[in-house]
Amino acid sequence: MAASNADVVIVGSGPGGATLARELARAGGQRVVLLERGIDYRSKPYYGTYLGALIYADRRSLLFTQEGLNIVRPLMVGGATSMYCGCAAPPPAWLKTRYGVDIEADVADAWLDLHIAPLPAELRGAASTRIAEAGQALGYDWRPQHKFMQPARTDHFDCGATCMLGCRCGAKWSAAEYVDDAVAAGVDLWTQARVERVLIEDGHAVGVAGKRAGKSFVLWADKVILAAGGIGTPRILQASGLRGAGQGMAMDTTVMVYGEGAARGIGNEPPMTWSWENRDAGYMLSTLMDPWLLYPLINTLKGPKYALTWPRWNNLLGVMIKLTDEISGGVYPDGKISKPLTARDRERLHAAEDVCGQILLEAGAKRDTIFTTPLRGTHPSGTARIGDLVDRNLQTEVPGLYVCDASAFPEALGRPTVITIIGLAKRLARQLSGGSLDSQGGATPSTYR
Ligand SMILES: Cc1cc2nc3c(=O)[nH]c(=O)nc-3n(C[C@H](O)[C@H](O)[C@H](O)COP(=O)(O)OP(=O)(O)OC[C@H]3O[C@@H](n4cnc5c(N)ncnc54)[C@H](O)[C@@H]3O)c2cc1C
Repeated sequence: MAASNADVVIVGSGPGGATLARELARAGGQRVVLLERGIDYRSKPYYGTYLGALIYADRRSLLFTQEGLNIVRPLMVGGATSMYCGCAAPPPAWLKTRYGVDIEADVADAWLDLHIAPLPAELRGAASTRIAEAGQALGYDWRPQHKFMQPARTDHFDCGATCMLGCRCGAKWSAAEYVDDAVAAGVDLWTQARVERVLIEDGHAVGVAGKRAGKSFVLWADKVILAAGGIGTPRILQASGLRGAGQGMAMDTTVMVYGEGAARGIGNEPPMTWSWENRDAGYMLSTLMDPWLLYPLINTLKGPKYALTWPRWNNLLGVMIKLTDEISGGVYPDGKISKPLTARDRERLHAAEDVCGQILLEAGAKRDTIFTTPLRGTHPSGTARIGDLVDRNLQTEVPGLYVCDASAFPEALGRPTVITIIGLAKRLARQLSGGSLDSQGGATPSTYR
């Protein structure tokens, strides 16, 4: 068995792990190793294609909870940001007021660094804009969605709905870019390195053990930070003896509501260019459409009648509902995942579906064509919650063992997660580099308000 040493080992290269690695490397003075179970697919010819999504998503995109909710879980350098929609929303105010975690200035710094902004009006898509205008006409405050996308980075901004398979045009930022920065600043990146458990001696974390390209390894370290995502992190914690991990989870459970109109639909437009957050009711709506080949697959789960609407894909209008769901179910040691909707979740979902129906009708969809897709989940989170399994500094009950990813969310965000995770990682990096936990970014929250 191969054995090595580091000062800090980070497990997982999604936005949590990548940001932490980059910040620690730039601060200097510590040997940081970043372990990632997947590989870097960005240079592969199939990156950003349907074939790619089959290759790099867990269980070939067929990962389901016990209740039948489909989870999209990319396993690769950059984590789920390799297949995300590139949306950004400020961290919820309750993170500071209820849990004492102030990341506002860190987020504001990242917001500027990553040039987060809505797409210019002419790139938001005619049909998407029609949906937003329909929402506004009904009195809902739809706004252009802030994006991690810079069209100026490419001369062919044209991914449309296939943006979610992986960005081929180069406009969308992913955490793999922060991994590049980290490596350039001296971080040692091990790909195909799957961590199985944390090594704990005399009650302290002292390293990790796992398999790299099929061979066992041990990596000793003074500090271990788990950033393996809302499903990966609780599994490692459970295997390391922290039994409370994975009990309950949030998902921001999602459905699409589709309706067919006479004019061209939103399929070839960038995803989620307009949104409306109904914070009081606990849901977010946005313009979104499944990519062409995924559309019949997901709708087959609802029934053949719905899959057969596929030939009309070009004329479909779509609104995504993202629920601020309650903590329920969990990630279990036997590998199963459960995420039932609670009675309150169902109530919210039905209310949101009614609103989507009104908006689609107003935008020109025919009444008898409107339907809701099966449930899916893209934000597995809250499986090692702040105030429960980790403290406000993200440390577990085991000194030297931290969690820095969506698992640490104390509640469902009900909105895009990535910039909040980046903020948590910047704050933890400052602490691990011997600095203050207080928010110290140069920018202020007014940057994103
Ligand atoms: C289709 C889709 C669309 C989305 N759209 C948006 C959006 O527009 N905006 C937004 O903010 N969020 C979006 N999200 C959610 C967002 O991408 C995730 O919430 C976020 O990436 C989670 O970050 P993380 O660091 O917690 O984990 P992840 O990004 O999941 O990264 C975890 C990493 O750990 C690795 N790993 C797992 N287990 C191990 C192990 N045992 N050993 C070593 N490595 C391991 C994984 O391979 C992965 O690379 C979307 C997600 C999906 C799937």
